[in-house]
Amino acid sequence: MSSRVLLVIDLLNDFLDRKGALYCGAGARKIIPVIRSLVDDFTRAGDPVIYLRDAHAPRDKEFELFPPHAVKGSWGSEIIPELEPGETALVVDKTRFSGFFGNNLSELLAGIGPEEVWLSGVLTSICVMDTAGDLRNRDYSVVIPVEAVADIDSRSHQFALARMEKVYGARLITVAGPAEGRGKAGAHKGSVDETLGEVLT
Ligand SMILES: [Zn+2]
Repeated sequence: MSSRVLLVIDLLNDFLDRKGALYCGAGARKIIPVIRSLVDDFTRAGDPVIYLRDAHAPRDKEFELFPPHAVKGSWGSEIIPELEPGETALVVDKTRFSGFFGNNLSELLAGIGPEEVWLSGVLTSICVMDTAGDLRNRDYSVVIPVEAVADIDSRSHQFALARMEKVYGARLITVAGPAEGRGKAGAHKGSVDETLGEVLT
């Protein structure tokens, strides 16, 4: 039994490569080295790393909401080269926003029985938040290193972090060094509460 599991959500060419169908922007690319070091840290410790990968059918209904992206088997649905999964990593396809949709993630996690599930990836307000909600519904404790998740705009990002903290009891932590201007690693002390108030009024 491992005490923690890392989920890496949608670090795919279509979201993180400049030529991708739904490129999330240069800001989102800043999470790549942070996730790389988290993956290495978990792998060294022998803790499971699970990559969740959008893998749509060519005429998926989701394309009524978003332009076609991450079609199963295409370049866009491949994990970016910087985060190429190692031998021990697991790759699980998903077909909707939540990491639990259309796969066996639920059984996989039940078999591992982690005390904490760490989340990383894109977008904070869509796939990360929906996955966090479905983890909470299954009584898992969620941990979110705030520098390891990204959105296309900071308002959505901040709102999603605040909602996941308040509604799902997610623990927000910082993992980057002082150069990031967030202070020491540990409990997150950002302006999330203020931002939530702002967004809700
Ligand atoms: Zn999708």
